[in-house]
Amino acid sequence: MQELNELTITEIYASIQGESSYAGVPCTFIRLTGCPLRCRWCDTAYAFKGGTPWTLTAIMEEVKRLGISVVELTGGEPLAQAATPLLAEQLLAAGYTVLIETSGSEDIRPLPSKTHVIMDWKCPGSGMSERNNPSNLSALKSTDEIKFVVANREDFDWSLEVIRREKLSERFHILFSCAWGLVAPKDLAAWIVENPIRCRMQLQQHKYIWGPRVKGV
Ligand code: SF4
Repeated sequence: MQELNELTITEIYASIQGESSYAGVPCTFIRLTGCPLRCRWCDTAYAFKGGTPWTLTAIMEEVKRLGISVVELTGGEPLAQAATPLLAEQLLAAGYTVLIETSGSEDIRPLPSKTHVIMDWKCPGSGMSERNNPSNLSALKSTDEIKFVVANREDFDWSLEVIRREKLSERFHILFSCAWGLVAPKDLAAWIVENPIRCRMQLQQHKYIWGPRVKGV
């Protein structure tokens, strides 16, 4: 059984944040192992299994060694491991800006309030939309971000309906992203322009810089 001062990690590395309102800034990524979901277009299936146990102390030392003030907890699903909120707390106490990318299926309430949450709201094209946890919508802060990764036009229309019904664009930052290789960026851009709501289209910068299949960047 996993200790509360330990996390199973696939990789820790320094790179450029590729998505969200932080896109383009230097960032240390802590990729946690394991995810309860199986999105059809998942690009990090290599993080589903394996990994290495790290104590929180060792993680903090590695983050310090890399020397970057922004740290992102990602996966896999970072909230599937019990010690993740504690790591976020330690990072915040040490003065880091802490981002977390979560699938939206896990309860975000254990996270410290200063964590910047980037939460997926899974569209039907992922095959995982029934796993969205609606109680997370009342736990998000107005500074947090909800990301819709669209795999086709149906996903985009479905997202608009959810955004309008739940008034999401009035409450949070909305991100739209293409499922890699399934939607052309120019198509998503055209759909957004035809349906102007308060949102941000994002490209996965790291894939344009290093290529879509390179790990650890
Ligand atoms: S939630 Fe993320 S890591 Fe998990 S299957 Fe979906 S895309 Fe992959």
